[in-house]
Amino acid sequence: MKERRAANGAACMNCGITDSTVVLCHYSGMRQHMYGKGRGRKGEDFYAAPQCVRCHADGPFAEGWIDPAYVDAPRDVQRLAKSELQLAQIVEWHRWRNQVRKI
Ligand SMILES: [Zn+2]
Repeated sequence: MKERRAANGAACMNCGITDSTVVLCHYSGMRQHMYGKGRGRKGEDFYAAPQCVRCHADGPFAEGWIDPAYVDAPRDVQRLAKSELQLAQIVEWHRWRNQVRKI
């Protein structure tokens, strides 16, 4: 819940826009079950990053999305690239939050 409140007014970690559509999107990468995701259950809020409605629908956290840099890569490489990008945005989100808290 603390993570969701912090995401209110945050910038989308994918495109940088700040608007009312930005919500916390949960990690759905290759290791999602390590981070609390189960059948019919979302992952833990800690493993999530703010995304705007457009990026949520067509970005690294969207189902079926493929990083344009990896369209010609094998499917398992595409999945790895997507997982890594989600984790990178989650790390950036936590780094941003920690910097804001120190100011
Ligand atoms: Zn966005």
